Amino acid sequence: MKPQVCNDKKCPFHGEVRVRGRKLEGVVVSDKMDKTVTVKIERMHYVPKYERYERRTSKIHAHNPACINAKEGDHVVIMECRRLSKTKSFVVVEVKRRR
Ligand SMILES: [Zn+2]
Repeated sequence: MKPQVCNDKKCPFHGEVRVRGRKLEGVVVSDKMDKTVTVKIERMHYVPKYERYERRTSKIHAHNPACINAKEGDHVVIMECRRLSKTKSFVVVEVKRRR
């Protein structure tokens, strides 16, 4: 992978965004937006009545800077940051596994 010039203000490494708060892992389900990806987060929820766990998912919009460039199907780590837009308050910080 060739290094890309990054002049994204919303990049946690080259821009002004500071990450704090929660850190989550998930899979990119959509990369169709400009510099934004949709990440599917899976978590286990305990149901006392059946003494079993059920799978719960949520979708989170995360900023995808040019130097990270996550694609659909990638396993990524996202970190909470300030609110970047109406639905974005997370940023992709690492691609764990490329598809
Ligand atoms: Zn960058």
